[in-house]
Amino acid sequence: MSDPLAELNRLQERDLELDLIREDQSRIPEELVQARLHFRSLEVQLGDLQEQLREVRLAYHKADLELQDLKSKREKAKAAQAQASGAKEQTQYAEQIRQLSGLIEDLEGNGKDIEGQMMPLMERMDKLEQELAQVKAQVDEARPKLEALEAANQQRVADLEATYQAKKAERDKLAATIPAPIVKEYESIRKARKGTGLAKMVKTANGYRCTACNVQLPMHVAQQIHQGHKVVRCPSCGRILWKGE
Ligand SMILES: [Zn+2]
Repeated sequence: MSDPLAELNRLQERDLELDLIREDQSRIPEELVQARLHFRSLEVQLGDLQEQLREVRLAYHKADLELQDLKSKREKAKAAQAQASGAKEQTQYAEQIRQLSGLIEDLEGNGKDIEGQMMPLMERMDKLEQELAQVKAQVDEARPKLEALEAANQQRVADLEATYQAKKAERDKLAATIPAPIVKEYESIRKARKGTGLAKMVKTANGYRCTACNVQLPMHVAQQIHQGHKVVRCPSCGRILWKGE
């Protein structure tokens, strides 16, 4: 009669192989990691530029409205000045026009010593629009590359999944040949103990030890394992101990 623990050991080898496939599936290729990071950083840049542009456009629009308002006030003051008869009134309108002209120059400049607030805003808008177009072009270039890498990775994961399922079916067939309580016990230990539920016992100079946790085994435990009448677990790590083939 075959040793059920020897079969269990073969089962564990298959389980460890399945674990490696799962690990491999979850490992994202470096090229894809980099492409994702690159794309995300471009998206952040794009959002940032759009936000800046929105703010500058708003500031420009506000200044432009103010300019139109000041100009229409100045036109009204000029018209009123033309209608005014008294010298005092004339002087008042002239002063008003002078003040309004000063404010208008602050906004649109005078083509000489005063640059005005609007020109730098206009230049900033142009610059941001250029930068935005550049980043958009980079995004358009990066997107298909990223999509191709994502698709290749999905295919890689799917191929591994097919391998996994085929090997899992073989594993389950093998598991069915081992007494169910032993498989169940092994599986629950495996879950708790980083993937191994069965450990080999080896002979040392002064007795036996568990190869999983290296603890020296009491002689009566080693004897029980050799007899093989029942499932014996390591008193230290709790794994099922196997005497080997
Ligand atoms: Zn142990």
